[in-house]
Amino acid sequence: MSAPVTDPLRLKLDLQALGMRIPPEIAARAGGAGPADGITIFIGDLVATVPTGAWYIDDSPYELCDRSDGSWRLARDDAEVARVTLADEPGFYRRSIADNIPYRSLALRHGRDAIGSTVAQGCSHGDLSCKFCAISASKRSGATLANKTPGQLAEVAEAAEAEGFSHIVLTTGSTGEDAGITHLAACAGAVRERTSMKIHVQFEPPDDPALIDLAASVADTAAINMESFDEAVLGNMAPSKARKGVERFNKTWTRAVSLLGRGQVTSFVILGLGESRRSIIDGCKLLVSLGVYPYLLPLRPLPGTPLESWRPPPPDATMEIFESAAAIVMDAGLRASSCLAGCVRCGACTTFTDLTG
Ligand code: SF4
Repeated sequence: MSAPVTDPLRLKLDLQALGMRIPPEIAARAGGAGPADGITIFIGDLVATVPTGAWYIDDSPYELCDRSDGSWRLARDDAEVARVTLADEPGFYRRSIADNIPYRSLALRHGRDAIGSTVAQGCSHGDLSCKFCAISASKRSGATLANKTPGQLAEVAEAAEAEGFSHIVLTTGSTGEDAGITHLAACAGAVRERTSMKIHVQFEPPDDPALIDLAASVADTAAINMESFDEAVLGNMAPSKARKGVERFNKTWTRAVSLLGRGQVTSFVILGLGESRRSIIDGCKLLVSLGVYPYLLPLRPLPGTPLESWRPPPPDATMEIFESAAAIVMDAGLRASSCLAGCVRCGACTTFTDLTG
């Protein structure tokens, strides 16, 4: 039997690598981008999204057992390793807008105090679309409205802000020549008009640099995600991004940092796609030299995607790379806690942000 894991950070890392089984009464979310197919828990001060629905969960030593005094007993190989609490369902989930469209089909709780929405649930890359992305699977599930209007999102954001949610993640599928940015910016602008929430937008490098300016004019932070700095892996996993090439990403990151500031722009870097360790470290060095926070996270293979039969990378290897990369980020003076909005601020999907506090 393995030794119990009691360090909260190590426990979060383990849970995100191995997942956990949950009792049937806890409804796991199904579909959606980001923390899809899992639940959000609190381990002491740490917030974590944990896979609960993937195939590899059956092999996990972790199980959420029973509840007492408001917290849940988390066991590893049947021995208690921690008490954890679950994120509450927000009150706005019980509300609907006109036409009986539930708020929860427009935006979902993310982590501690964020909400998130995919404003356009489509992708024009076809056969070249990213293999780890669940946007199309999520659309098929019917759990989310495929296209949200700026007014709908502003209404939900207003209700969420009244409950204490402080930032919003707005992402989009690449839906056309403008990479979906015009609609994304309209949605962000509407949220900005109706709330004081900090706004995070995610988009691909557009052909027209003016679209970067448009997105930055209505947001506090941005993610322009390269996902892998291993050329062969990127070509296989995200061929449309590989075709754009790193130079194109470079220009987009540089322009976004000039508009939003150092540490307010990020790029996801996924561990577990088959990339070399060197590529991750070199990618981190490149990003921090531009003032971009490298958001390292373990692969979360999502049901309905081409990677659904994969596993997240092993926790020991992930921790080793996280620690090396965190030193690079800290040396550059970047901190997750300085980021105003989005995944870097939230940090529920990775322990990397906890290491770069
Ligand atoms: S880290 Fe990003 S995707 Fe994950 S829960 Fe937080 S905001 Fe959502």
